[in-house]
Parts: sequence; C-alpha cells; structure tokens
Amino acid sequence: MEMEKITNYIEGKLQASVSSTWIENINPSTGKVYSLITRSNQDDVEIAINAAKEAQAGWANKTVQERSDLMLRLAKLMERDLEKLALAESIDNGKPLQVALSVDIPRAISNINFFATSILHSSGESHQTDNLALNYTLRQPVGICVCISPWNLPLYLFTWKIAPALAAGNVVLAKPSEVTPMTAFLFSKLCIEAGFPAGVLNILHGLGNEVGAAMVAHPLVKAISFTGGTTTGAAIAKVAAPQFKKLSLELGGKNPTLVFNDCSFDKTVSEVARAAFSNQGQICLCGSRILIQDGIYEQFKAAFIEKVKTLKVGNPLDKESNIGAIVSEPHLLKVLSYVELAKSEGGKLLLGGNRIHFQGEVENGYFIEPTIFEKLANNSRVNQEEIFGPVVTLQSFKSTEEAISLANNTQYGLAASVWTENITTAQHVAKTLQMGIVWVNCWMLRDLRTPFGGVKSSGVGREGGWEALKFFTEAKNVCIKY
Ligand code: NAD
Repeated sequence: MEMEKITNYIEGKLQASVSSTWIENINPSTGKVYSLITRSNQDDVEIAINAAKEAQAGWANKTVQERSDLMLRLAKLMERDLEKLALAESIDNGKPLQVALSVDIPRAISNINFFATSILHSSGESHQTDNLALNYTLRQPVGICVCISPWNLPLYLFTWKIAPALAAGNVVLAKPSEVTPMTAFLFSKLCIEAGFPAGVLNILHGLGNEVGAAMVAHPLVKAISFTGGTTTGAAIAKVAAPQFKKLSLELGGKNPTLVFNDCSFDKTVSEVARAAFSNQGQICLCGSRILIQDGIYEQFKAAFIEKVKTLKVGNPLDKESNIGAIVSEPHLLKVLSYVELAKSEGGKLLLGGNRIHFQGEVENGYFIEPTIFEKLANNSRVNQEEIFGPVVTLQSFKSTEEAISLANNTQYGLAASVWTENITTAQHVAKTLQMGIVWVNCWMLRDLRTPFGGVKSSGVGREGGWEALKFFTEAKNVCIKY
C-alpha cells in the first residue's frame, strides 16, 4: 500500500513541494514510518507569498461578518471530524487518544470559534483632545503573517495563531512542526471544504531551518507569530528584527510549582501530578520544579510518589493510558540524557528513570517511566534547563521568600502554580513571581480571553483575546480638528 503523502496547501490547493523530496513521518508509539511529508523550500515560499499577495485585499475587505461566518463553518467541519482529528493527533504525536479527544481537538475548535466571534464584538478607541480635536484609532490588518508552531500540542497551537491572524483580516503562511504535521494537513482539507478563498491561508510543510527560515526571512512578511524553543526564537528574532517585522515569541519554560504547608493536601497532590506529567510532560506549562514547604515535604513526597505510580504508561490508543509515547526518538534520547545528568549531578532517583519496552504492536515505541528526583541544587543543570518530558524534581523550602527566590532563579519565566489556602500568601507570591502566568490552586485552567505568554527567555509578547488581535493589526490614529 502506498504511504499517505502530506502535501502543502497553497493557492487553495493541495500540492507537493517543487523540491519533489519527502521527509519520513514516524509514529512515536511504534517507531515506524507511516507517512511522508513534502519537503518545502524557498521556492514554495515564493509561490505561497504570491498567492497570499493576490488574496490580501479581497480578504481584508470582506466584512467582519463574512470572515466570521467562514471561520465558523470551518469550526463546524472540525467538530464533525473531531474523532478523526483526535485519532490522527494521537498517532502522529504519541499523546493518549483520550487527551486528544478531550483537550487538543476541542480546544483547536474553540480557538477558531473564539476568534471568529470575538471580531464581531471588537470596538476601537477614541480620544477627545479637549475641545480641539477628535482622535480615533483604526486597527488594520498587518498584511502577510507567518505562524509557526511546535509539536507538543499540534493542532491546538497551530489554530491558536492562525485563528486571530485570519480573523483580523490578514493572509497567512503557516507551518506546523515537521515532527507532527498530520492534523495541519487534515485541517487544510477542511479549509478547502469550508470554501476559504485561495491564498488566504497557505500551509507549508518541511524542515524548520529550510522552509521555516525562508518564511521568516521573506521581506514581504510583516509579522511572525512563533511558538517553539528558546534557541529557535532567538534565531528568528535575529532575522526578523533588522527588517522590523512584528514578533510574538512563545518559548520554553522551566515552570515552578509552589506547594505551601497550608495547601489543600489531597487536591494539591493530584493536580501537581497532572501539572507535571500531562502530555508526557511535554507542555510548555508543565510544572517540572516542584517546590514544597518543609512542614509537609516528606508527607507530600510520599503521597506524590504514590499518585504518580497510579499513572499508566501505555499505547496511546488504549483508553486506560494516562501517559503515551514521547514524540520522537531524538527527544526520547534527550530526556533520557537528563535522567543520567540528574544522577551525575547528585540527584536521588525516587521513581522511574527508565525507558519502557512493551510487547506487541508498540514494542519499539518511545516510552519513558514518569520520573521523580530530589536532592538536586537549584543551580544544577537539571533544575535550570528545559527537559520537556516526564522528569520532575522536588526541592524543599522554608519561607515564602525562599520559595519565590528558588522559583524566579532560572532564565525562564513562563508559568507557575501556587498551592495555598492563604489568600495573602497567594497574592504576594503571584505578584512577586517573574512569570507571564500564575495559577493559584489550579493548573492550566484556561480562559481564551486572558493574556498568554512569558517573560525573560520564555518569550516576547502575549497571545490570547485582544492581545492576539492587537498583535495581528496595526493601530493607525486619525486626528480630526474640530
Ligand atoms: P522548535 O523550536 O524546534 O520548533 C518549533 C517550530 O519552529 C517547528 O515548526 C520548526 O520546524 C520551526 N523552526 C525550527 N527552526 C526554525 C527556523 N530557523 N526558522 C523558522 N522556523 C523554525 O520547538 P519544538 O521542539 O517543536 O517545540 C518544543 C519547544 O516549544 C519547547 O521549548 C517548548 O517549551 C516550546 N513551547 C512553548 C510554548 C509557549 O506557549 N511558550 C508552547 C508550546 C511549546
């Protein structure tokens, strides 16, 4: 049987790269190649840019209602295909099917619905300048935008960028990760079915340093929304900044979880485990540095280990699996190298630490036991560098100020969760943490209207709600003298 071929969506059509070369797409739970990805390059970018240029005025001049209707139609088709998309996501990424069914795909649909409807309710600013003049601010599309997303939440993060860009009237060149391209490909078929005008959205597949770099560098691209690693973000900024492109960078993290003596114990144990190991620990928001106040350290450690032992690693397609496969072999090896590093840095292994080899269909899959270490210094590499896998560390702290200092002491500043029943502690800690997002007594409770993003090496700019619509528009002030 011929292998499925993942092709680009350019000029409203599915088409292979002009390179006629292909990249192998691997199912991480079997380790087997199961589809081929078209390997796009600079020439495909040129074709897509021309298509986008052609489509630009037509799309920007559509009424807000027309853009909204088309996007809502797309969301309806995604709803129709929810199970198909979820299965594809689980096979492509290794995440449990249950997670794709309940989180990834519903959230991707919400992203489209949310921005399709939020544009119906947006309004502009106006400023009255004494009795001299009236100023009003127009928010106009930026033009051709590039959206680049990572492999951990493939369709979820892909749509999180595309939706506001399109809703605001821009034309888009988008690239999913070459590690997980399948749902973006299925999504492009739905765009065709929904009747998107040719060139409004162009989806290119291929390697980051080839087609991704060509998209970023193109002089006609006015804005870049990127989610991925900090090093890649820096490389993109280097190219984009001298050309004065707008940049939104959502990058890596090393998120602390702060557990205080007075937390609601049982709820905290299970939510901290969820925050640590959801999606195999491959969510930029996962809490991988668990800081526990000394009064409950031993008790919490024991309960946490017991809780994590109940998480079942297994075939992502099995209903009972809580943890699926790591996304790729290189990433598996990276995560395992951090387990060795933790040992060499003096860490005490409390649980896990090994690759799992199952029998049968998934015998060559990339599975790792959920892993817990303690006794690693805050300045150890394991506590400073993003692992992005099912490996967490426990550290104890005495005072609130010590917890804040440990939490803030990395190059990253994406998200934190704080577990305490004391509102004064919660507010003080939330205010003092150097993070873009702080959750109190919850984790990953998302409201799409809220600003989303990080500080320090975790990124620049914010996504979500008006922040995203602002990013994808240029403000133009008009001043009319009375
Ligand atoms: P990555 O940086 O390797 O790749 C991300 C995307 O960028 C991919 O589509 C890739 O093809 C592309 N790319 C790579 N090099 C490029 C270049 N030179 N020019 C243009 N595009 C290029 O990241 P990844 O390994 O796919 O994802 C994991 C990382 O993403 C982690 O660091 C994680 O923390 C981060 N992440 C951050 C957030 C957030 O919201 N802050 C969310 C999810 C993931």
